[in-house]
Amino acid sequence: MVSVICMTRGVEQQFEQWKRFMGSQMFPWKRKNLKVCKCGHPPEIHDDIKGCKTEKCPCLKFEPREEVMRVAGTLRPIQLFEYVIPADCIPTFLVMQGSLPMSFLHGAKMRPETNVIGWALRKGMGLKKMPTYSQKEFDEALKNCYQHVPMDGMAVYPLGIKEDKFGPIDFGPEGKYDQEWL
Ligand SMILES: [Zn+2]
Ligand SMILES: [Zn+2]
Repeated sequence: MVSVICMTRGVEQQFEQWKRFMGSQMFPWKRKNLKVCKCGHPPEIHDDIKGCKTEKCPCLKFEPREEVMRVAGTLRPIQLFEYVIPADCIPTFLVMQGSLPMSFLHGAKMRPETNVIGWALRKGMGLKKMPTYSQKEFDEALKNCYQHVPMDGMAVYPLGIKEDKFGPIDFGPEGKYDQEWL
């Protein structure tokens, strides 16, 4: 997961509406199941010579199966906002808020007022700069955008990001996953 730290400004009732919508947005969250191969069989019945030893299974090599779950973005109101979503969903987070992607296209310039405040807060909070994306990446992100967020009368300025750890987690009987930490 990644935390996108935002600064907000807006009309109160619009802001309340924004909070409700952001709290109910769903994002696809991918992780790799280390106990199930993409062919559906467990790793133990694979070897380096024949691959999967199950009869008629064409699988040549064990590869963890990718599984996708929908997770709700977690909105944590502090003075600023931290919005926790899967790291590769930042473009989706931007497109669902309409005009936001403009600022994060490769080569785009931040508006001066957000630049100065943004720089100071980012330094103070030890955040990384917001990544930028291509138009193609934003077009792709639209496919994961299940719901647009009404943005009338308010503005959101993403300031930067804070990345979580990534690595294997053992859930015991429920499996072992290579994943972003929640
Ligand atoms: Zn396999
Ligand atoms: Zn198999």
